[in-house]
Amino acid sequence: MRDPLFESAKQKLELERNELVAVIAELAEDLESASITVSLRENLMDVEGALDKLERGTYSLCEGCGRTIAPARLDELPATRHCSACAVDTAS
Ligand SMILES: [Zn+2]
Repeated sequence: MRDPLFESAKQKLELERNELVAVIAELAEDLESASITVSLRENLMDVEGALDKLERGTYSLCEGCGRTIAPARLDELPATRHCSACAVDTAS
């Protein structure tokens, strides 16, 4: 997969994953941060899911309607699982 969009998405996703892992590890020591950690973990799952899809070659396909997600949206939100139309419906 040598698509430049995918290459840049992969770099952004790997960077985001590393940051999330570091922040979660830091917050895990503080029980009051538990609820923040939950949303960060969900974030991390999306990031890892996107990296997984890059590996499998299904990256950029909307999980809602199966259509290709617009490159501008992927550029802005590399870990998104939905196209902008489906994101409105699912609020994610
Ligand atoms: Zn869709």
